[in-house]
Amino acid sequence: MTEVNVIGAGLAGSEAALQLAKRGIKVNLYEMRPKKNTGAHKTDKFAEFVCSNSLGAGDCSNASGLLKKEMELLGGELIKIARECAVPAGNALAVDRELFSEKVTKKIESDKNINIIKEEVTSIPDGVTIMASGPLTSEKLANSIKEFTQSEHLHFFDAIAPIVEKDSIDFDKAFWASRYDKGEASYINCPMNKQEYENFYNILINAPKIELKEFEKNAKFFESCLPIEVLASRGFDTLRFGPMKPVGLVDKRTGVENYAVVQLRQDNSAKTLFNLVGFQTNLKWGAQKELLQSIPGLENVNIVRYGVMHRNTFINSPKILNPSLQTRKRPDLFFAGQLTGTEGYTESIATGMLAGINMARYINNEKLLILPKETMLGALTQYISDENHTKFQPINSNWGIVTPVELPKKERKNKKLKAEMIVTRSIEYITCVENI
Ligand SMILES: Cc1cc2nc3c(=O)[nH]c(=O)nc-3n(C[C@H](O)[C@H](O)[C@H](O)COP(=O)(O)OP(=O)(O)OC[C@H]3O[C@@H](n4cnc5c(N)ncnc54)[C@H](O)[C@@H]3O)c2cc1C
Repeated sequence: MTEVNVIGAGLAGSEAALQLAKRGIKVNLYEMRPKKNTGAHKTDKFAEFVCSNSLGAGDCSNASGLLKKEMELLGGELIKIARECAVPAGNALAVDRELFSEKVTKKIESDKNINIIKEEVTSIPDGVTIMASGPLTSEKLANSIKEFTQSEHLHFFDAIAPIVEKDSIDFDKAFWASRYDKGEASYINCPMNKQEYENFYNILINAPKIELKEFEKNAKFFESCLPIEVLASRGFDTLRFGPMKPVGLVDKRTGVENYAVVQLRQDNSAKTLFNLVGFQTNLKWGAQKELLQSIPGLENVNIVRYGVMHRNTFINSPKILNPSLQTRKRPDLFFAGQLTGTEGYTESIATGMLAGINMARYINNEKLLILPKETMLGALTQYISDENHTKFQPINSNWGIVTPVELPKKERKNKKLKAEMIVTRSIEYITCVENI
């Protein structure tokens, strides 16, 4: 009988193992803790939350909430346990983390189809395998993944600039242009006069930063990838000669030369998301919001992904994975969790679930489940496996990657209605999935 190797009993690996086991498939679940630790995990339990105890929205008022709903409809196991362990947190789903890990661990330990092996895996095994060793994958295994993906397709550190929704940008102030009018006018530019730049600079140099973890402190940043706060600390004008250089960027409507310009580059093929060029940052999220909203044109901007800098092992999924989470090179090998370049607890559990479902289908010679971009999980898996990415960075669930819904003209800015329509459409798709 086929036995599936699942590497890592974190959020994704635990979910994947339970999906396989309940379909009658034998699993060898490998976990290196407590023999070897990651630097962030604190217990020897499975599915440990390494930082916050919140999984984000508990209802469908935002994209993460919809992802939870989809998991529930598709038979997710950890989401059920999370609801059982919920603690009061407004409309967020926060859990008693110890109880949650305890329950997941017990469920796995008592499952006769799951064989737990408490060992570090040092190379990608032969045979049917789901890789779910997470952002803090041990070094030896990371080297093996590096070999499999070819070195340039494995990343060890995130230095990410914020991503925002185009629809929330004020185009009375922002303008489309490429520097010196070269090629298409494909960048969105937010112009600043001297006073606006001074205000921005003062917010930036006084903004609080996120403390790096001990194991992250030795990380070396490339000079071209320095956080904006580090550049700003070098002098008042450094940013104006770097990522905020105004030369060659003129708004044809005004003809005015600007003192500084923030550029935004298209981030997804649907042209709904844009990232701030050169704005990788380690500022606290509240401070990032204040800083971005001080930029002319971004006063009401909707940030779908904040900038982060932390250790994060992830593969270059656009070159490696299909939207089913199967690798293109080896059909019996799937990836799940943060390793795939999806970001967040809920996303890790969701991709673990999909990898488990699809591995079971693969073994049974059934068609793999590929969800459409009309659903949140489909939008995520299609995003990470989209070959058109040139500079892939991890993404969490957000409305910007879902196929847009057509809103009546007078309702264009009605975010609540937009969310409701996306949710209804997704539920219709998911409830039609066969053989779940
Ligand atoms: C420091 C840090 C803080 C984070 N904070 C948050 C947050 O607050 N909110 C949020 O939504 N997301 C957060 N994330 C992102 C992400 O959601 C979590 O890391 C999440 O746990 C990822 O799930 P996973 O299943 O991919 O990996 P994990 O849950 O980390 O599971 C991977 C498992 O694989 C094991 N493993 C690793 N290497 C091997 C090996 N060679 N052999 C056997 N086992 C191995 C590990 O011990 C671990 O148990 C954080 C990430 C990091 C690194």
